[in-house]
Amino acid sequence: TRGRPLPPLRVLLAAPRGFCAGVRRAIDAVEQALRRFGPPVFVRRAIVHNLAVVRSLEAKGAIFVEELSEVPDGAVVILSAHGVARHVEADGRNRGQRVFNAICPLVAKVHQGVVRHHQDGRRVILIGHEGHPETIGTLGQLPEGAAFVVDSAEAVQMLDLDPGTPVAYAVQTTYSADEAAAIVAAIEARFSDARGPRGSDICYATTNRQAAVRSLAPRVDAMIVAGEHFSSNACRLAEVASAFGCPSVQLVADASHVDWSLLTRSRIVAITSAASTPEATVEGIVAALAGRFDVQVEEVEHVAETVSFKPLKIH
Ligand code: SF4
Repeated sequence: TRGRPLPPLRVLLAAPRGFCAGVRRAIDAVEQALRRFGPPVFVRRAIVHNLAVVRSLEAKGAIFVEELSEVPDGAVVILSAHGVARHVEADGRNRGQRVFNAICPLVAKVHQGVVRHHQDGRRVILIGHEGHPETIGTLGQLPEGAAFVVDSAEAVQMLDLDPGTPVAYAVQTTYSADEAAAIVAAIEARFSDARGPRGSDICYATTNRQAAVRSLAPRVDAMIVAGEHFSSNACRLAEVASAFGCPSVQLVADASHVDWSLLTRSRIVAITSAASTPEATVEGIVAALAGRFDVQVEEVEHVAETVSFKPLKIH
């Protein structure tokens, strides 16, 4: 080769990263439906929060819609991994649609938890991001006004509830573990009778991806998080990287969005990816790095992940 030698760069691939069991199951549900019924198969909302995934399913014959009113009667429709409010599935069935709900089993567990607490007479406080599809779906398990959404300790103080009110909290599965802990502490300090979920609502995939980033963040000059800006778990990974000492963090949908000016002085860079990001996106970023640097790539496994879910039955 001609020209100057490329500058050396160590690339640490965070593990675990990328697809979780819930995302795999939801994508598989659409692919199964396409094989079983043939196209078109309708999908309500982004099946998972990643445009590359959406486009590849579109290429196979999936049609993405916002609402079931856009789906013809009798058609096959899949509901996204984030879960939906109760009325959505019933609405599709009333229209004669063949509805398959690809809700992640771990989101379904949160739904069951809030319903149980509501039936026990508790006011439900959902620690989550207002307007996120998962939050809307979880709130939609309960009658309107039965639950509150909070995203900070200050928001807990503002709740229009008496401190003696029996409350129960639930957490969005992709929330930041550290931020959730601070909000839970505020709930427990303000309410004398507060219950939480059995175990944690923050799912194993979120926990493991955040933990891997937390351990790498102080060791690297820069971190690239592969994921969409509208993916909750992707945004949390970028926040965790910054909070735990990584001086330069960028969240990019793919290699074409990498800001190379942020890497000019880097000697060691980490890459992670959101639970909805295909591994091909990470491979694309590594290939792009290899075009500019003399890369030495290593995978750094924080914890081994073996979770898988039974496929959704499509018939
Ligand atoms: Fe399920 Fe967690 Fe994946 Fe969401 S991020 S689909 S809750 S495993």
